[in-house]
Amino acid sequence: MAIINLENYNASLKDIYLITGQGVTSNIYVFGGETITIVDSGNGAEENRIIPQLKEIFSKIPNVSKTILTHFHFDHIGGLDELMESYVLDIIIHKEEVPFLRDMNIKRLKEINAGDKIVMGEYLFDVIHTPGHSPGSVCLYEKKTKFLISGDTVFPNGSFGRYDFPFGNHKALLQSLKRLTEIDVKAMLPGHGLPTFSKVNQQIKLSFMAAKSYF
Ligand SMILES: [Zn+2]
Repeated sequence: MAIINLENYNASLKDIYLITGQGVTSNIYVFGGETITIVDSGNGAEENRIIPQLKEIFSKIPNVSKTILTHFHFDHIGGLDELMESYVLDIIIHKEEVPFLRDMNIKRLKEINAGDKIVMGEYLFDVIHTPGHSPGSVCLYEKKTKFLISGDTVFPNGSFGRYDFPFGNHKALLQSLKRLTEIDVKAMLPGHGLPTFSKVNQQIKLSFMAAKSYF
């Protein structure tokens, strides 16, 4: 695993860390502040345990108050058990995917909807519902700094999320990508791979065009 301080890439991304993992596992974004917010939790494998990484970032075990999941796939939610063992935290996911998590014995499951706002660290995010990769996939957009946490909906360099998993939908993915071309994005923080900071709007347009050409 590696920890990347995003401020080293872009000065406006303060107290935000990316934890990368091993194997098929999602990126984990960590927002510092009085209490910690985590976006996605990785696959939960031993080698991708989160708390040792938090200790390394903050040089103590910090208080985590909430986790936001960009969607319900196992490589994004596997780390929830580890977090729930150590913290009383809200677990937040789009309402369409609440049923998938309900059976997992999660006590503080909270739903989000398009247009909701979420505070993480010193940032205020808008929830954008971007179905297609999964029915309740969300992207999180921070208007002031114009950065986008894009989950598995869109990736750098014209890539986009698979829509051939169960509950995936190509048409919905196209609409979601189109929606993302309509906002101004300066930094894309994807669910897998490294963030990107240059000509991001163009990259998202490429993804939209590429996804369109699949049919
Ligand atoms: Zn996924």
